[in-house]
Amino acid sequence: MVRCMHCRAAIIGRVSGFALFNYQRPQFCTACGSPYPWASRDERVTRILTLLAESKVREGDRLALKEQLTVLRHVAPDQRTEKLQVAALKALQRVAPEVWTASRPVITSIATSWIRHELKLPDA
Ligand SMILES: [Zn+2]
Repeated sequence: MVRCMHCRAAIIGRVSGFALFNYQRPQFCTACGSPYPWASRDERVTRILTLLAESKVREGDRLALKEQLTVLRHVAPDQRTEKLQVAALKALQRVAPEVWTASRPVITSIATSWIRHELKLPDA
């Protein structure tokens, strides 16, 4: 795979140092923000939290959201957890709309169909 499956942008790796040994396969498309298939769930959730950390959301709100969003790290074993995940994502939508927009492709990629339906996200 050399292109993003969503926007067709070329996958550009970072080469650090002088040798190709240090080639780091990127996890997310730099053009549209979609995760590549090999990005793990944990890396995807970390991406959302990084976007939140880099945002201008006020500290108190940011910390509360961060706490709430950690529920995304778990694959929902039951609908109770799924409801917590929806609540966390709705809070993100409300309190930090710019972070919500930037992380939408990542959120869509980890959401179950029920969560996508609740949040009116397109089918991945
Ligand atoms: Zn892309």
